[in-house]
Amino acid sequence: MGKITGFLEFDRKVEEYAPVEDRVKHYKEFTLPMEEKELKEQGARCMDCGIPFCHSGCPLGNLIPDFNDAVYRGKWEMAAEILHSTNNFPEFTGRLCPAPCEEACVLGINENPVSIENIEKNIAETAFSQGWVKAQPPVKRTDKTVAVIGSGPAGLATAQQLNRAGHLVTVFERDQKIGGLLRYGIPDFKLDKSVIDRRLRILEEEGIQFKTGVEVGTDISAEDLKKEFDAVVLCGGATVRRNLPIEGSDLKGVVQAMDFLKQNNKRVDGITDLGEEIKATDKDVIVIGGGDTGSDCIGTSFRHGATSVTNFEIMPKGTVDRPDDQPWPFWPMRLRTSTSHKEGAERFFSISTKKFTGDKDGNLTGLVTTEVEWIIETGKRPRLQEIPGTEKEWKCELALLALGFTGSEMTVAEQLGIEADPRTNIKASESDYKTNVPGVFAAGDQRRGQSLIVWAISEGRQAAHHVDAYLMGSSNLPLKGEGDLPRI
Ligand SMILES: Cc1cc2nc3c(=O)[nH]c(=O)nc-3n(C[C@H](O)[C@H](O)[C@H](O)COP(=O)(O)OP(=O)(O)OC[C@H]3O[C@@H](n4cnc5c(N)ncnc54)[C@H](O)[C@@H]3O)c2cc1C
Ligand code: SF4
Repeated sequence: MGKITGFLEFDRKVEEYAPVEDRVKHYKEFTLPMEEKELKEQGARCMDCGIPFCHSGCPLGNLIPDFNDAVYRGKWEMAAEILHSTNNFPEFTGRLCPAPCEEACVLGINENPVSIENIEKNIAETAFSQGWVKAQPPVKRTDKTVAVIGSGPAGLATAQQLNRAGHLVTVFERDQKIGGLLRYGIPDFKLDKSVIDRRLRILEEEGIQFKTGVEVGTDISAEDLKKEFDAVVLCGGATVRRNLPIEGSDLKGVVQAMDFLKQNNKRVDGITDLGEEIKATDKDVIVIGGGDTGSDCIGTSFRHGATSVTNFEIMPKGTVDRPDDQPWPFWPMRLRTSTSHKEGAERFFSISTKKFTGDKDGNLTGLVTTEVEWIIETGKRPRLQEIPGTEKEWKCELALLALGFTGSEMTVAEQLGIEADPRTNIKASESDYKTNVPGVFAAGDQRRGQSLIVWAISEGRQAAHHVDAYLMGSSNLPLKGEGDLPRI
């Protein structure tokens, strides 16, 4: 695979970014394209390692050495076919995946790993720009109908796979537009929404029906939907946000991150009816929570023109290098610094917010924190302990709560009598994605809890196989690692 000596000749390279002072003036993506020659060299770094651990690192089982080799040889159309045979939407993962495959890359043991994600993005973009990504409606239709609830990456992957098997698929989405968190969570500067629209045109051409502005469980009962369709797949995401129930959390200026991000994505989309405006302009902003959501709040706040942006994380600061107790090829917990962090945010770790403070009109003016340490005792769960004497006051007019999600909404599940675990994740085994109610399946964050786009696509593909088998007695839809006839 690749060039036998490629990893010795070429250093790792990924797309560079536009300078901070330019990119914070707009919401467009800001990566700078690479030359084809450079991309081929990156493909050449893949080193014929014998057992490609990257396959198992990737939740989709992407055939990484094969597409790397095709890129190295300049066979871009072949690379696109290989890539699409395991991944319905490489243009999303190529931009947004944290790339567990790269942590599992054999070259990464003692060198910089192959830049797999960047290669993936460039294969996907070349395929679209060359017109190789075309609608592939099924040759033959079955008479079976499937309702997919939720249009995030899990719902879209489920729908495309089941439509390919010939079933008539309708996707129900309560929001105005299709895409789930791709549309209304992740900011445009990380994923331009034209990238979603471009893919949706293909899905529509293939024959998938989309019904937006329809909340299942409210606008249409889940029981009626179940009667109307031969199978139902729950892909509603993990949408219940974690709160911070401390003194002052009702002050004006303490805002859930998702309200802030969703409103901004709608604003960028030209929607004007946004309700009460949430802006970071000329404010000292504190983002509480150090994950992807927090990072997206930071980048958005800078684009609003915030005076300062500070980020709190309750966990200790990780190391830049892989910790010794998390060896290759596992996914290590280490310090990750996003492009948004690099736009000027000050980050604090092992810090806990104790209370918000406000003025007499109920506006947020600041908050109080303490430093914390994690106590780890054998046989016990890690425990958080405040460090006495570390109380500190901070000025802030906007506090964004990016504390993650506790689980999924239960309306549809309750209407259908579907069981969930104590965290409100729908109970459906990874072996068949079936819930306890025959004909009802679950995939994505609603099943596995808050996760990643790559997992949502993977679950959607797996669930589609089992729905197809339920409807037809058996299924030819590929499971993870089986690959498919190359289609784009
Ligand atoms: C701010 C933010 C940034 C992120 N950044 C990244 C990233 O960079 N990389 C990454 O890999 N992951 C990222 N993630 C995680 C990733 O977005 C999710 O794991 C993924 O979108 C889950 O896909 P899903 O299809 O399961 O659910 P979702 O994308 O949440 O989609 C669920 C959809 O179901 C709809 N729905 C729910 N209930 C109903 C109903 N009753 N009727 C009709 N429709 C309904 C919702 O409106 C929603 O559109 C991020 C998450 C957030 C919040
Ligand atoms: S989807 Fe993610 S894990 Fe899989 S090959 Fe692409 S970047 Fe790697």
